[in-house]
Amino acid sequence: MAGSGSPSLSNGTPLVGVLALQGDFREHLALLHSLGADAIAVRRPEDLARVQGLVIPGGESSVMDKLSRLFGMAEPLREAVASGLPMFGTCAGLIMLADTVRDAIEGQQTLGGFDIAVRRNAFGSQTASFEVDLDIPELGESPVHAVFIRAPVVESTGDGVTVLSALDDGRIVAVQQGNLLGTAFHPEITGETRFHEYFLESVRARS
Ligand code: GLN
Repeated sequence: MAGSGSPSLSNGTPLVGVLALQGDFREHLALLHSLGADAIAVRRPEDLARVQGLVIPGGESSVMDKLSRLFGMAEPLREAVASGLPMFGTCAGLIMLADTVRDAIEGQQTLGGFDIAVRRNAFGSQTASFEVDLDIPELGESPVHAVFIRAPVVESTGDGVTVLSALDDGRIVAVQQGNLLGTAFHPEITGETRFHEYFLESVRARS
């Protein structure tokens, strides 16, 4: 279909989306564009229907949850997870993908799909921003510089979940399950590109 239809179908470059209801979606979009990806902000079900992969950014999961329900995005997002659409959640985005969230606000829901339990604000809600270098062999030899901002931790993982990284004390901060990828920290704000490249590879492998 040269010259017509979606660019993702005509030139082999998949179109990826960043959920843009709340949070640091601009940073993800800028990073994806810097990697040469076709990337759009996703706010409506019509946007979601166009993309072959979706990033859910950091921000505030309880607000993202409310907005996703208010704008009729929660069900389409759940269907997209169930259909196997590759997704990458950072921090609040990881919380959105978790089957179980602890220390949620009253009535807070998640999309689910990731067979994990996460605890919100696991390092304390005010003072808990810190940076650390993590070894993540899947991403190569040099460590990943990770920034944690009021971050969750993954407290339990189901059988299909691979732990990509944990802190020295054993707390799990990066996970993968099939097409789902999640980090408790923010690779999008440190100049780290390998997580997004890894995500784009899984999108390409499927499209
Ligand atoms: N504490 C936030 C939440 O519960 C996450 C913080 C972040 O995304 N940096 O959603």
